[in-house]
Amino acid sequence: MWWKDLRATLSQRINVEGISSLASVLVKDQHLALPHVLVPDIRYIDWGELQRRGFKGVVFDKDNTITVPYSLTIWDPLDASIERCKSVFGNDIAVFSNSAGLFEYDHDDSKARALEKTIGIKVIRHRVKKPAGTAEEIEKHFGCKSSQLVMVGDRPFTDIVYGNQNGFLTVLTKPLSLAEEPFIVRQHQGKKDSE
Ligand SMILES: [Mg+2]
Repeated sequence: MWWKDLRATLSQRINVEGISSLASVLVKDQHLALPHVLVPDIRYIDWGELQRRGFKGVVFDKDNTITVPYSLTIWDPLDASIERCKSVFGNDIAVFSNSAGLFEYDHDDSKARALEKTIGIKVIRHRVKKPAGTAEEIEKHFGCKSSQLVMVGDRPFTDIVYGNQNGFLTVLTKPLSLAEEPFIVRQHQGKKDSE
Protein backbone atom coordinates (compact mmCIF):
# COMPACT_ATOMS: atom_id res chain seq x y z
CA MET A 1 0.00 0.00 0.00
CA TRP A 2 2.87 2.39 0.85
CA TRP A 3 4.17 2.04 -2.71
CA LYS A 4 0.79 3.03 -4.13
CA ASP A 5 0.68 6.06 -1.84
CA LEU A 6 4.26 7.01 -2.70
CA ARG A 7 3.60 6.61 -6.40
CA ALA A 8 0.42 8.64 -6.09
CA THR A 9 2.25 11.41 -4.23
CA LEU A 10 5.11 11.47 -6.72
CA SER A 11 2.85 11.41 -9.72
CA GLN A 12 0.83 14.24 -8.25
CA ARG A 13 3.99 16.30 -8.09
CA ILE A 14 5.27 15.19 -11.47
CA ASN A 15 2.30 15.53 -13.76
CA VAL A 16 3.59 13.72 -16.85
CA GLU A 17 0.48 14.24 -18.95
CA GLY A 18 0.45 17.84 -17.75
CA ILE A 19 4.06 18.38 -18.79
CA SER A 20 3.55 16.90 -22.25
CA SER A 21 0.34 18.88 -22.73
CA LEU A 22 2.12 21.96 -21.44
CA ALA A 23 4.84 21.47 -24.05
CA SER A 24 2.32 21.26 -26.86
CA VAL A 25 0.39 24.25 -25.53
CA LEU A 26 3.57 26.30 -25.25
CA VAL A 27 4.51 25.48 -28.81
CA LYS A 28 1.29 25.83 -30.75
CA ASP A 29 -1.80 26.48 -28.64
CA GLN A 30 -0.90 29.22 -26.21
CA HIS A 31 -4.37 30.71 -26.48
CA LEU A 32 -5.76 27.62 -24.71
CA ALA A 33 -4.17 28.80 -21.46
CA LEU A 34 -6.03 32.12 -21.60
CA PRO A 35 -9.18 32.14 -19.45
CA HIS A 36 -12.41 33.84 -20.49
CA VAL A 37 -12.52 35.52 -17.10
CA LEU A 38 -9.77 36.33 -14.58
CA VAL A 39 -10.58 37.00 -10.91
CA PRO A 40 -8.55 37.24 -7.68
CA ASP A 41 -10.65 34.46 -6.11
CA ILE A 42 -14.16 32.99 -6.32
CA ARG A 43 -15.69 35.77 -4.20
CA TYR A 44 -15.46 37.96 -7.30
CA ILE A 45 -17.68 35.65 -9.37
CA ASP A 46 -21.33 36.69 -9.73
CA TRP A 47 -23.06 33.30 -9.66
CA GLY A 48 -26.51 34.75 -10.31
CA GLU A 49 -25.30 36.53 -13.43
CA LEU A 50 -23.75 33.33 -14.80
CA GLN A 51 -27.05 31.56 -14.30
CA ARG A 52 -28.98 34.40 -15.95
CA ARG A 53 -26.66 34.05 -18.92
CA GLY A 54 -27.70 30.44 -19.32
CA PHE A 55 -24.99 28.46 -17.55
CA LYS A 56 -26.30 25.31 -15.92
CA GLY A 57 -23.57 24.41 -13.45
CA VAL A 58 -20.11 25.03 -12.02
CA VAL A 59 -17.05 22.78 -11.85
CA PHE A 60 -14.36 23.71 -9.36
CA ASP A 61 -10.75 22.67 -9.20
CA LYS A 62 -9.94 21.89 -5.57
CA ASP A 63 -6.39 22.73 -4.46
CA ASN A 64 -5.66 26.44 -4.26
CA THR A 65 -9.05 27.28 -5.78
CA ILE A 66 -11.47 26.43 -2.96
CA THR A 67 -9.18 24.72 -0.43
CA VAL A 68 -5.60 25.13 0.66
CA PRO A 69 -3.65 22.15 -0.81
CA TYR A 70 -4.18 18.87 1.10
CA SER A 71 -7.00 20.42 3.11
CA LEU A 72 -10.45 18.83 2.92
CA THR A 73 -12.36 21.94 3.97
CA ILE A 74 -13.25 25.11 2.09
CA TRP A 75 -10.87 27.95 2.91
CA ASP A 76 -12.93 29.92 5.46
CA PRO A 77 -13.12 33.28 3.64
CA LEU A 78 -14.67 31.54 0.62
CA ASP A 79 -17.51 29.89 2.56
CA ALA A 80 -20.10 32.56 1.78
CA SER A 81 -19.33 32.48 -1.95
CA ILE A 82 -19.63 28.68 -2.03
CA GLU A 83 -22.96 28.91 -0.20
CA ARG A 84 -24.18 31.53 -2.66
CA CYS A 85 -23.09 29.29 -5.56
CA LYS A 86 -25.01 26.39 -4.01
CA SER A 87 -28.11 28.53 -3.58
CA VAL A 88 -27.99 29.54 -7.26
CA PHE A 89 -27.01 26.24 -8.88
CA GLY A 90 -28.35 23.72 -6.33
CA ASN A 91 -26.78 20.33 -6.91
CA ASP A 92 -25.29 21.37 -10.22
CA ILE A 93 -21.88 21.98 -8.69
CA ALA A 94 -18.94 19.58 -8.66
CA VAL A 95 -15.25 19.31 -7.91
CA PHE A 96 -12.92 18.02 -10.63
CA SER A 97 -9.48 17.69 -9.11
CA ASN A 98 -6.11 16.15 -9.87
CA SER A 99 -5.98 15.02 -6.23
CA ALA A 100 -9.32 13.94 -4.68
CA GLY A 101 -11.28 11.78 -7.11
CA LEU A 102 -8.38 11.06 -9.48
CA PHE A 103 -8.01 7.27 -9.40
CA GLU A 104 -4.22 7.31 -9.64
CA TYR A 105 -3.88 9.50 -6.57
CA ASP A 106 -7.05 8.63 -4.67
CA HIS A 107 -7.05 4.91 -5.45
CA ASP A 108 -9.29 3.86 -2.55
CA ASP A 109 -11.67 6.81 -3.09
CA SER A 110 -11.14 7.92 0.51
CA LYS A 111 -10.17 11.53 -0.29
CA ALA A 112 -13.14 12.05 -2.59
CA ARG A 113 -15.55 10.63 -0.01
CA ALA A 114 -14.04 12.66 2.83
CA LEU A 115 -14.16 15.84 0.75
CA GLU A 116 -17.78 15.28 -0.26
CA LYS A 117 -18.68 14.82 3.38
CA THR A 118 -16.98 18.00 4.56
CA ILE A 119 -17.88 20.39 1.73
CA GLY A 120 -21.20 18.93 0.59
CA ILE A 121 -20.22 19.05 -3.10
CA LYS A 122 -20.04 16.06 -5.44
CA VAL A 123 -16.49 15.03 -6.41
CA ILE A 124 -16.25 13.68 -9.94
CA ARG A 125 -14.22 10.48 -10.20
CA HIS A 126 -11.89 10.27 -13.18
CA ARG A 127 -8.79 8.47 -14.45
CA VAL A 128 -7.04 11.03 -16.63
CA LYS A 129 -5.25 14.04 -15.19
CA LYS A 130 -6.20 17.52 -16.32
CA PRO A 131 -5.42 19.02 -18.80
CA ALA A 132 -5.60 15.70 -20.65
CA GLY A 133 -8.88 13.84 -20.93
CA THR A 134 -12.35 14.67 -22.13
CA ALA A 135 -15.39 16.12 -20.38
CA GLU A 136 -17.22 12.77 -20.51
CA GLU A 137 -17.46 12.18 -16.74
CA ILE A 138 -18.50 15.79 -16.13
CA GLU A 139 -21.16 15.88 -18.85
CA LYS A 140 -22.54 12.60 -17.56
CA HIS A 141 -22.79 14.03 -14.05
CA PHE A 142 -24.47 17.28 -15.10
CA GLY A 143 -26.56 15.85 -17.93
CA CYS A 144 -25.65 18.73 -20.23
CA LYS A 145 -22.90 19.82 -22.61
CA SER A 146 -19.69 21.28 -21.17
CA SER A 147 -20.38 24.47 -23.13
CA GLN A 148 -23.18 25.13 -20.61
CA LEU A 149 -20.81 24.74 -17.67
CA VAL A 150 -18.26 26.95 -15.96
CA MET A 151 -14.77 25.63 -15.09
CA VAL A 152 -13.09 27.49 -12.23
CA GLY A 153 -9.44 26.83 -11.37
CA ASP A 154 -6.13 28.41 -10.41
CA ARG A 155 -3.82 26.86 -13.01
CA PRO A 156 -3.69 28.19 -16.57
CA PHE A 157 -1.92 25.12 -17.99
CA THR A 158 -4.07 22.61 -16.15
CA ASP A 159 -7.58 23.86 -15.36
CA ILE A 160 -7.85 26.48 -18.08
CA VAL A 161 -6.29 24.43 -20.88
CA TYR A 162 -8.54 21.53 -19.92
CA GLY A 163 -11.61 23.80 -19.77
CA ASN A 164 -10.90 25.55 -23.06
CA GLN A 165 -10.07 22.33 -24.85
CA ASN A 166 -13.40 20.90 -23.79
CA GLY A 167 -15.60 23.94 -24.42
CA PHE A 168 -16.30 25.27 -20.89
CA LEU A 169 -16.50 28.90 -19.89
CA THR A 170 -13.18 29.20 -18.08
CA VAL A 171 -12.54 31.30 -14.97
CA LEU A 172 -8.99 31.62 -13.64
CA THR A 173 -8.42 32.51 -9.99
CA LYS A 174 -5.15 33.39 -8.33
CA PRO A 175 -3.83 30.43 -6.30
CA LEU A 176 -4.85 30.66 -2.64
CA SER A 177 -1.42 29.60 -1.48
CA LEU A 178 1.99 29.03 -3.13
CA ALA A 179 4.06 32.03 -2.12
CA GLU A 180 1.10 33.35 -0.18
CA GLU A 181 0.62 30.20 1.87
CA PRO A 182 2.37 31.46 5.00
CA PHE A 183 0.24 34.60 4.68
CA ILE A 184 -2.95 32.57 4.46
CA VAL A 185 -1.93 30.41 7.40
CA ARG A 186 -1.07 33.52 9.38
CA GLN A 187 -4.35 35.16 8.43
CA HIS A 188 -6.27 32.02 9.31
CA GLN A 189 -4.37 31.69 12.56
CA GLY A 190 -4.91 35.36 13.37
CA LYS A 191 -8.63 34.95 12.83
CA LYS A 192 -8.70 31.93 15.12
CA ASP A 193 -6.66 33.73 17.76
CA SER A 194 -9.08 36.63 17.76
CA GLU A 195 -12.12 34.39 18.12
MG1 LIG B 1 -5.45 23.96 -8.22
